[in-house]
Amino acid sequence: MLSKFEIDEKTGCWNWKKSVSRNGYGVAFRNGKNVGAHRLAAYTFLDLDSDPSRYVLHRCDNRLCVNPKHLFLGTQTDNMQDSINKGRNAESRKTHCPKGHPYSAENTYLLPSNQKRRRCKTCRALWDKEKAERLSRITGKRIFKRGNPLLYKSKIDL
Ligand SMILES: [Zn+2]
Ligand SMILES: [Zn+2]
Repeated sequence: MLSKFEIDEKTGCWNWKKSVSRNGYGVAFRNGKNVGAHRLAAYTFLDLDSDPSRYVLHRCDNRLCVNPKHLFLGTQTDNMQDSINKGRNAESRKTHCPKGHPYSAENTYLLPSNQKRRRCKTCRALWDKEKAERLSRITGKRIFKRGNPLLYKSKIDL
């Protein structure tokens, strides 16, 4: 196993050098089957054998890393929570709106056209406020120009 990775001195990550899976994990071979290289590392260095259903998670968020010090064993829930924390899972986008407001029951409404699409009430309120302010700025300007013949005159003169 030792020849199959390269140590990154800066991060301390042991980067897998062999095959890489489509989702970016190192691929290793164990007992006649392809396994994640990080799982192989966990079999070798951590106590994964006692419970092969456990997930092997990265502290360093580097999927190629097989440094056992950067790995820890977790459940599927941990795995999802970990992904959410790292913000790369689609689920994470669903817990907060793009501006980071929580999609809580009080802060969420459904699009009338599509009951599956959730929208953030805080953002909606902000948009509405912004729109109202923009409108009043525009109309305010128009009213001001219309009410001030000098402005019209200078515009024509130019
Ligand atoms: Zn690492
Ligand atoms: Zn929002």
